[in-house]
Amino acid sequence: MDYKIIALILVTILFIYQIINKYFIFTAVSRPIPENVRDVYDITTYQKWAEYTSEKTQHKIYQELVSYAVFMLLIIFNVFAFVEKIVVDNVYAKAIIVWIFFELVNFIVDIGFEYFDTMKIESKYGFNKTSNKTFIADQIKNLILSLGIMIGLLSAFIGLYLWLGDFILLAFSLLLFLFVLGIFFLMPLLAKIFNKFTPLPEGQLRTKLEELLTKNGYKVNEIKVMDGSRRSSKANAYFSGLGKTKNIVLYDTILELMTEEEIVAVFAHELGHGKNKDILKGYLFSLLQIFIIIFISWLIISRVIFIQDFAFEKLNYGFAFILILNVVIPFINMITLPIANSFSRKREYKADMFARKEGYQEALISGLKKLSRNNYACLNPHPFTICMSYTHPPLSQRIAALEKEM
Ligand SMILES: [Zn+2]
Repeated sequence: MDYKIIALILVTILFIYQIINKYFIFTAVSRPIPENVRDVYDITTYQKWAEYTSEKTQHKIYQELVSYAVFMLLIIFNVFAFVEKIVVDNVYAKAIIVWIFFELVNFIVDIGFEYFDTMKIESKYGFNKTSNKTFIADQIKNLILSLGIMIGLLSAFIGLYLWLGDFILLAFSLLLFLFVLGIFFLMPLLAKIFNKFTPLPEGQLRTKLEELLTKNGYKVNEIKVMDGSRRSSKANAYFSGLGKTKNIVLYDTILELMTEEEIVAVFAHELGHGKNKDILKGYLFSLLQIFIIIFISWLIISRVIFIQDFAFEKLNYGFAFILILNVVIPFINMITLPIANSFSRKREYKADMFARKEGYQEALISGLKKLSRNNYACLNPHPFTICMSYTHPPLSQRIAALEKEM
């Protein structure tokens, strides 16, 4: 069996999938808007959104096409095996040169598209705040940073693999497990490093939030406002803390955007997630996904024979990384994400129902409408797009579920 042919077929399937995906996003703007969300945007805003989305998506389709063609040519003509020969026979040097070559090719392919996207499209709709100079500087900074990180990771991996052999699978899995667990507990700490927190002043909102939590068997430790507006206009609220004692965090953006009743409603939804242990479930599923990826990656790396189909004499770790990151992971994601998303959407409905049970049906609906407007959400996505990439059900379906009779 020729692994090169298999790789080319997988890359082509991924490309077709991306194009179908983009096509449905592109055509969503002309789908009729459901009755229950007609009031989210006024007609001018909606028109602007529709033009912006279709222009962006069309541009992305061209970019996808060029990237696909370039990657296919690199594989078909064994360019990576050729690049490897320009350095001395050293497993680290060979891996790093192949990786640098690939990053540079991507950089050259993407920079024109990125430039057009930021300076022409984003500017046209008033989102861009970057100048030519900043744009170039940012791109170069990103390239250097990404090269630095990847070369570091690649070298560390090769070193570990040569030292531990197939044990690396076990070591990697363990490390990852600790990492995911770490994120789970470290998130609140990290948030504290990057943001400023101030206590929410005494008042109705504070009392209502406290009442909601105590009523559901939780103890409130502190309620704080985070300066999320410094980075993004996205509004949010969450709660953290182990066991029954909880800290509530509200973004300052949500305080500006919503009424007290709506904030409590959004919070009741979050509380629903807490009651159903949803965050943990989400984490467990991604962990499973990561283990599948590690296992298949290990199969690739431990089967040196396959590398000969790509004209290499010995295993090139840089090339193995390229295949894993550009073929294996996207392919596994393409299969597992729709499953994960469908579970996630079910959990969202359940959390909405919890907020409804607490008496916040109307406030949640108006709060969600404001969030959608604020985030420039698509009101009428195609079912294919929902299935493949929506972790939350689209607004109109959430409202329909909330308004359905008990
Ligand atoms: Zn949710």
